Amino acid sequence: MFRLNHHWFNSYRFSFSTNGINYNSDKVQEFISKNKAHLSIGITIDGTKTKHDLNRIWKGEGERGSYEDVVRNIPLWLSQFPGAGTKVTISSDDIPYICESVLHLYSLGIHEVNINCVFENVWKDGDDMKFQEQLLKLADAIIDGCLYEDNTCSFFNEQIGKPLDRILFNQNWCGAGKMLAIDAQGIFYPCTRFAQYSLRDKKAWEIGNIKDGINKNRLRPFLRLDRCTQSKQECIDCEVASGCAWCQGENYDTAESPTVYERSTAICKMHKARVRANNYYWNKLYRKLELEGITREDAEKHVKKSNVQEPC
Ligand code: SF4
Repeated sequence: MFRLNHHWFNSYRFSFSTNGINYNSDKVQEFISKNKAHLSIGITIDGTKTKHDLNRIWKGEGERGSYEDVVRNIPLWLSQFPGAGTKVTISSDDIPYICESVLHLYSLGIHEVNINCVFENVWKDGDDMKFQEQLLKLADAIIDGCLYEDNTCSFFNEQIGKPLDRILFNQNWCGAGKMLAIDAQGIFYPCTRFAQYSLRDKKAWEIGNIKDGINKNRLRPFLRLDRCTQSKQECIDCEVASGCAWCQGENYDTAESPTVYERSTAICKMHKARVRANNYYWNKLYRKLELEGITREDAEKHVKKSNVQEPC
């Protein structure tokens, strides 16, 4: 585009997700100052030190977590990208730390917390009730402390927990098959979750490479993917289906045969717990606003809402 003097030349954006360890290094800072107008950078910090260090540990250094190495870079990051959000992932062992972690991230100045449960089948009996308990505690803290005015937590979303029309709301959850993931060797995948390093039991699903381009034949199975073609009847008819996500790569990995048409539902009871906590959150919030004389129509002005639909 530069050679063609095309007017699109300056229209591009690099979007990074990083663990933030090297954020303050000279190399990274030089790159940021040179490209700032074209950058979106998200640093992944999982919450309190206990929660973050449960999963994010240095390779080859025993059990040393990376919390301290990341948190020192948060003020610099927020000064350069005010309003930036983070992405938190929840697995079974993390559940007890959800409430304190979200509040901790708010206290660091991160106002947008995108958070979701992993799609893998890691959940133990009773995890859904513990999860619900944490979300209710978090709902109380956000509402009683008026934190909803400046902060968002993607666990609370008014659109989730409703039945879905099988024709009007039948799209696939993500863009797998309609986007391109490329690894360091130049091999193409429908998403990074189809690369060998992301898979436990299946072979990588390659769809081409930088020399030969895209092999459209390898992409054909993705063309007919939608909610109904890959879900069991129970999910199609589910009363709380909206917001119940799936991961195409995880579906492929857990399927009985090498197919993308078998939806994994390991997240089912966690989604139902989230829906119950959501009902509590929005009921409590609207009642509080009503007592303050704020109508539902005006609530938008008083409640910050996330720009992100649902993290995956
Ligand atoms: S996984 Fe469970 S909650 Fe989600 S749509 Fe299926 S039945 Fe409903």
